[in-house]
Amino acid sequence: MKCPSCQSELKRYNKNGVFINTCPICHGSWVDDSRRLKEYIVYLLLENNNIPVAKVELHKKPITIRQVDHPKRSCPVCNCKLTTFNYGYDSNIILDKCDACNGLWMDKDELFKIAVYLKGNPTIEAYGDALVQSTQERIEIEKKLNDLEA
Ligand SMILES: [Zn+2]
Ligand SMILES: [Zn+2]
Repeated sequence: MKCPSCQSELKRYNKNGVFINTCPICHGSWVDDSRRLKEYIVYLLLENNNIPVAKVELHKKPITIRQVDHPKRSCPVCNCKLTTFNYGYDSNIILDKCDACNGLWMDKDELFKIAVYLKGNPTIEAYGDALVQSTQERIEIEKKLNDLEA
């Protein structure tokens, strides 16, 4: 699989069943299934205690896609044009998603920014706790996690 940003060969990793492909050159990452990104972030948060919690910005203005000068990229899997969007509508983390295969591209540091953005989110925290505890609890929170907008 080739990097949608610099065309280098991506390195594939399996993180507890969530597949992520990282570019050794530009350090961006491609997630096979964007719906499982939050699960991946939960593992990341469990492993890294040093990820800070996002500061509350009272007068934060969400940037619109039209304001973004963002290169048009193609999906490394199906080759169609990726859709640019603002993660969580107001995070101002601008990502590229494939509407056909549900893959998601994050530039260098964007994965970290999403982790910061999601840390402190009650559903995300609860899922992390449930991972360490019972499976039943985990299944229930997994449902809520899926309802959180990607
Ligand atoms: Zn790259
Ligand atoms: Zn695709």
